[in-house]
Parts: sequence; C-alpha cells; structure tokens
Amino acid sequence: QNQSRSVDYNAIINEAFNLFKNEKKGKNANYIPYLDKVNSEMYGIVIVTKDGQVYQIGETKYEFGIESVEKVFTLCMAMELFGDQVILDKIGANQTGLPFNSVPAIEQDGQKPSNPLVNAGAMATTSLLTSHFGHKDAWEKVDAYFAKFAGRKLSVIEELYKSEAATNMHNQAIAMLLKSYGYMYDDPFFACDFYTKQCSYGVNAHDLGVMAGTLANGGVNPVTKERLIQEKYVPKVLAIMGTTGLYETTGEWMYKVGLPSKSGVGGGIISIMPGKFAIAVFSPPLDKAGNSVRAQEAIKYISDKLNANVYVAQ
Ligand code: GLU
Repeated sequence: QNQSRSVDYNAIINEAFNLFKNEKKGKNANYIPYLDKVNSEMYGIVIVTKDGQVYQIGETKYEFGIESVEKVFTLCMAMELFGDQVILDKIGANQTGLPFNSVPAIEQDGQKPSNPLVNAGAMATTSLLTSHFGHKDAWEKVDAYFAKFAGRKLSVIEELYKSEAATNMHNQAIAMLLKSYGYMYDDPFFACDFYTKQCSYGVNAHDLGVMAGTLANGGVNPVTKERLIQEKYVPKVLAIMGTTGLYETTGEWMYKVGLPSKSGVGGGIISIMPGKFAIAVFSPPLDKAGNSVRAQEAIKYISDKLNANVYVAQ
C-alpha cells in the first residue's frame, strides 16, 4: 500500500549498506580454490522494481561467480520448455534438510534428486536441457536464455571454471549416482561439466538484480520488457526458492524474512517480493550453510523496512 507511494529505496539501501559494512562474520567458500581468493570486503546492494527502476550502492560492477543462483534460471528454462509437471516427476520439489551436495539426501527421497536447487537436482535439470538441445547446441541456447534474464551477454569466468572443474569429483559422483537410479537424462559427466560451467558465469550485483527482477515482475524482464517465462510458472519457481533457496537454513530464513530467495557460494543472494521488486546482494563471506552473511543481514533489514514478506497480507 504505502509501498507504492514514494518509497525512498536509495535511503534504505544506504542504511543497509552502512549498518553491515563492518560485519566480520563468515568466510569465503574455500572448497573451490578460486572463490577463496576473492576479496572478502566487497559488498554491493541492488533493488530492481517491477517497473524497471534500479537502485544500487557499493560494489555492483565486480563480476563474481553466480554459482548456485544459476540453478533458478536453469529451472526457469526447463519449466518453460517441459512444463511444471515434468519438473515434479523427473526432479522433485522437496526440501532435503541437508547440505546442497548431500548424497544421503538422494537416498532418503526415493533415490530422487529432491529439487532443482540442490546440486543433484540442478545437474538433473541441466541434463534435461542438454539432451533436448543436443551437446553441440546446448551451450548457445542456455547462454542466450541467461543473457535475456540479465539484459546483457554473460561470460564464464574461465579461471573459476577451471578451478571448479579440477575439483568437482563429488558432483561427478552425484551425477553418476543419479544415472544409476534413472534420474539423469543425459551423459552424467557431460551434464556435470555443463552445470559447472553454468555455475562459473560471472555476474555483478546489478545483473543478479535484473535477473531476479524478472521473477518479481511475473516473468517479464522489467528492463528489456521481454517475457522469459510464462506467468503461471513463476509461482512454482518461487515456491521452490521459498522451500530450499538458502540450503538447509531456508526454514529459518522464511520464518525471519519471508521472501523466496536463492544464494550461491560466490556470495550472491537474490530475494523476490512478487509484483513489487527484487533485491540482489553480493558479499563473499558465507555462514556454515553457504549463505552470504552480509547479504542475509542486508536483505532482512530492507524487507523489514519495506514490510516486504510474502506471508504478510498486502
Ligand atoms: N558450483 C558449486 C557446487 O556445485 C555451487 C554450489 C553453490 O553455490 O551452492 O559445488
């Protein structure tokens, strides 16, 4: 209500930036060597409204690894191509309560990938795309789709890709395990490598804001005005984000903040207030579950200030 009247987004992101800029908690992801070396001080906040206004503060130009945030847009592409029932049947939509790369999670959920936002489910979703497009054309198609979300062409950070590809044996094992259970829809090693490359996209906080803004705007990029996913699918994507977007601490996150969100171990988090705006925050140090500490603090502050919570009657 009063939100659509004049909201001073600039003042709010300014406050959020200054309140948490000296936060010292958290540590960069160190299981991917490249991520460990990224400057931990970097911190940027972006809000993109439904009508395409962009508000930003701090480090919003530096390109960092998109990592798990990519899973949301891979899911959008697969849902748009194959429909929501296929996602439910071939991947799943359940929280695992376990880390994002958990093997027991696969065993406990009927040997299924559980959901598209954990590594198993993301690789299975990617395999739906690579088998559909074929190995030769798949990258070009996915690349074009991601570019439409960001409103500009994205590039893979080659050094990150190499760093991750050299150390992703665990993900290869998960892909192979899924294959054995009939939940991998292409060559497991091809899908794992393709997924690794997707995670290595360089994005800045502004890109993530526009990508998330597309979901806040019912599937139409608020800046380019192009529709990227049917409106009826957006609530399904947000439901999965609201169930599993912040790894095994998603329940607490929804209790405290109430915005469907997705984090990545590169330090980015996106949050969506449907029909209103999206928030993207970048800051590399992570908590134990893999979520950026400052990003969580900043988003909580902003959502409290704006009374933005999907469970609050609007
Ligand atoms: N590429 C990372 C992995 O598979 C992504 C992890 C994440 O951001 O959750 O380990």
